[in-house]
Amino acid sequence: ECVVYWMRMEDLRVRDNRALAQASAQAQRDGVPLIVLHVLSPQDYIAHDRGARRIDFVLRNLQVISELDIPLYAVSRTPRTTIPAFVYDLLQQWKASHMFANIEYEVDELRRDIALCKIANETGKVYSPFLRSWKPLLDQANSSHLEEAVSPAPNDPAVRSHPEYGKLFDVEVPYEVDGFALHPEERERITSCWPAGEDAAHEMLRRFLKTATRASQLGAVDPVSDGAKEAKDPARQSRMGKYKDQRDRLDADTTSRLSPYLAAGIISARACIREALAVSGKTKVDTSPDTGVGRWIQEIAWRDFYNHIVALFPRVSMGRPFQEKYANLRWETNDEHLQAWKEGRTGVPIVDAAMRQANTMGWMHNRGRMIAAMYLTKDLMIDWRLGEKYFMEVLIDGDLASNNGGWQWSASTGVDPAPYFRIFNPYTQSQKCDVGGEYIRTFVPELAKVRGPDVHKPPPGLADKLGYPRPLVNHEEARKRAIHRYKNIGEV
Ligand code: FAD
Repeated sequence: ECVVYWMRMEDLRVRDNRALAQASAQAQRDGVPLIVLHVLSPQDYIAHDRGARRIDFVLRNLQVISELDIPLYAVSRTPRTTIPAFVYDLLQQWKASHMFANIEYEVDELRRDIALCKIANETGKVYSPFLRSWKPLLDQANSSHLEEAVSPAPNDPAVRSHPEYGKLFDVEVPYEVDGFALHPEERERITSCWPAGEDAAHEMLRRFLKTATRASQLGAVDPVSDGAKEAKDPARQSRMGKYKDQRDRLDADTTSRLSPYLAAGIISARACIREALAVSGKTKVDTSPDTGVGRWIQEIAWRDFYNHIVALFPRVSMGRPFQEKYANLRWETNDEHLQAWKEGRTGVPIVDAAMRQANTMGWMHNRGRMIAAMYLTKDLMIDWRLGEKYFMEVLIDGDLASNNGGWQWSASTGVDPAPYFRIFNPYTQSQKCDVGGEYIRTFVPELAKVRGPDVHKPPPGLADKLGYPRPLVNHEEARKRAIHRYKNIGEV
């Protein structure tokens, strides 16, 4: 691992060189070597009318620099169009965490640097390479900063109210904001599911890391109660321990439910990772798919991945598909279907349970989100942006990057998405992820008394008798329609 400074031909000095100074400081912070790179480009010299004297002067100055105690790597490269990829490969080979350079403003040089940024961004468009580069960065952070106090000291005067400003701090936090007030009953329900404060968040984290799955807590009413009792029973594996195999189970409480706290920054992702590693007795960041902790940290990486996509590709924050060719996809306009989906009345029990979970608790299990989103976009063929908007409206963890990422994944329009032809069959998903049907029974009271596999797909007669709606569409026909539309979109 190293930090690279790319020394350009107008920057042949060590003194008073801002990019070099920053590179050197970074290398010192990370405890890694600094490499100085210089790329000689004969084609550029010709294109820019460079004289032999000028080039000779560059080389003689590089020789002087190479005699200093700095590892200088000077290399010649043609054709010049290959320089960006060549530099990128070097950075990969050297496992460079950062590269610094002073900017060159001429058009060819700017184009070269933009090309390099584009290559670097390309690798960031797919989750697996992103994860591979995310992990060493996190390891570095873990060893150098993560353990460091990033919190103010308990009696730091800066975080206590100053007598001079006493009056300012007398103002109470408003109880509600116009247009955003919750009905008292709703406020009570949501508050009981999601208590406020850092202590509540850390307690939820602790319970996830240390206590067993609570199949009975589906409806969730108080996620921070009764942990102590379970913690005393060492025979019961922690929820994190089971996460690898059980994270997709809708009928058990197998995930951390920390998303509202992470989305609002009430707990930091760093703290979550630090605690998870400590509990697992690991010193290095684990992102292995074979361990509970590794699988969980991978999910936190998805959160960073989607944030990274929002930063790199602003179009996704502007309602545009990541894959622009899908901008012209033909969607259905059907307010009745949209409304039924929102209210959990589609006639597909697993979709309805998921939507009703969101409507009641302000939160939905990840698998539920995937099933409900896939159903809206592929079975009902309704624009993913309408689903994205509704989730933002009802979810307490509503977060632009993760929500947009999840919706565009489901709609197959996003970065590294589900292929458009791999459409979830909601009934099969239901049997796999809600094996005994307990999730459906909890959130769809009409079906609470249905035993056996009928709960996943109630026969029409039974549905009618129980006052449960019939399916809005036939899944097989809808699947064919979706594939046809995606396939025939044509390249933009
Ligand atoms: P755990 O499984 O315990 O995971 C730990 C943390 O990792 C989560 O709290 C979350 O911060 C992060 N995480 C987990 N899965 C994902 C993922 N697929 N993408 C990004 N981050 C992830 N998450 C939100 O925080 N806000 C949203 O608005 C949101 N909208 C979504 C919409 C759709 C259509 C889909 C498919 C997913 C969405 N997600 C969203 C991601 C994911 O569903 C939730 O983060 C997860 O269900 C939260 O539950 P948890 O805290 O128990 O997660």
